[in-house]
Amino acid sequence: MIPELNEEQKILKKNVRGFLEREIIPIADEYDRKYHPLPRDVAVGLLEKMVPLGYIGSTLPPEDGGQGLDLVSYGVLGEEMARAYVSLGLIAAIQDSALLPLLCRHGTAEQKARFIPKVLSLEKITCFCLTEPDVGSGARDIKTTAVPDGDYYIINGTKTWITNGGIADLALLFASTDPSKGARGISCFIVDKAESPFTARELPKLGLRSCPTSEMVFTDCRVPKANLIGNPGEAYVIALADLVPLRVHVGMGAVGLAQAAIDAAIKYAQERKQFGRPIGKFQLVQEMIADMVMVTEAARFLCYQAYYLLDKGEVCFREASMAKAFCTEMAVGVTSKAVQVHGAYGISEEYPVERYFRDARTLTFPDGATQIHKLIVGRELLGMSAFV
Ligand SMILES: Cc1cc2nc3c(=O)[nH]c(=O)nc-3n(C[C@H](O)[C@H](O)[C@H](O)COP(=O)(O)OP(=O)(O)OC[C@H]3O[C@@H](n4cnc5c(N)ncnc54)[C@H](O)[C@@H]3O)c2cc1C
Repeated sequence: MIPELNEEQKILKKNVRGFLEREIIPIADEYDRKYHPLPRDVAVGLLEKMVPLGYIGSTLPPEDGGQGLDLVSYGVLGEEMARAYVSLGLIAAIQDSALLPLLCRHGTAEQKARFIPKVLSLEKITCFCLTEPDVGSGARDIKTTAVPDGDYYIINGTKTWITNGGIADLALLFASTDPSKGARGISCFIVDKAESPFTARELPKLGLRSCPTSEMVFTDCRVPKANLIGNPGEAYVIALADLVPLRVHVGMGAVGLAQAAIDAAIKYAQERKQFGRPIGKFQLVQEMIADMVMVTEAARFLCYQAYYLLDKGEVCFREASMAKAFCTEMAVGVTSKAVQVHGAYGISEEYPVERYFRDARTLTFPDGATQIHKLIVGRELLGMSAFV
């Protein structure tokens, strides 16, 4: 089954691409060099421009303030955004697809009323805090604790590699309320910095440089019990299922990045001359470009397949993990070939392909490393888990 874009989705793609080519692509390289990371006001200003296109929260149900946009359409947005400026795409993806869907599905009416409008209006920027310095792939072993104290939980722990951490007002935080129960003792909270302060330190990194990525420290952080999402101990299971679309979205971001690299490589191969002719005439250069296009198109279909199943209400762990693992690794190879087509200019900041290459390499980690997704695919196929 390979879904084709319908007419509305094709028009959306054309309109979004046109907008991004006018408004975002001309500034992406400059901002990527200048801002490590984007300051909060710059990031919010750029996101505000994206709202009329379907960011932020358009996939939420109308009763929660969204437009009920289907995920295939959301994938179209994600690919185009990443093709333009993947750092901005990741900032938007976290604002769109982490706290908001969890709140919609598991939040109380009071929580929804208190937080959703402020996230949709960008008054509050959000982040998703699961990873810790000693706990990455094995997330069920997190050490951050939340201990009840009257009407509050007292939270202590350190989170790391948190996208949007340094500009966030609201943290969706995972902490253990009962360490003796392992994964079934993990709960999640909305931590509002205004009432429950936390600190964030920016982590310099290879790629996605203008996307904020932070280490965050929660010290005796008092969070009202009213900010617990769902019941204590439910968070791990909630997160496993509800964050599947975000995983596919990271894969789709990698497809957008690969498409940007292809477009740049084709243009360069048509213009750059060696031996008295465009390098695009040489068969080995054509082979590189053909290889880039074949795997990118295959990757795009994997994402659409997963979005299509999610739109039908299926959880699709296998398809989502295939999309995330294949697409992000594919983008590393495709952007590397784009650098090769550009020769030495490919590693120069004069051309965008060096950014694409660094960004693609970085994208293999958010939402789970490649090996973990392969093990999920294996588990779904074999009925045996490597994690137990
Ligand atoms: C740009 C960026 C943004 C991020 N954003 C967020 C965020 O917003 N929120 C958040 O909570 N986290 C975020 N992360 C963290 C990300 O989820 C982790 O980096 C990821 O889960 C891997 O954890 P780790 O880096 O600690 O690697 P580790 O878990 O230490 O793994 C190291 C290596 O060992 C491999 N490995 C581990 N276990 C196994 C196994 N059982 N079998 C085979 N191989 C294995 C891994 O695949 C990897 O190659 C982000 C990371 C990056 C780079």
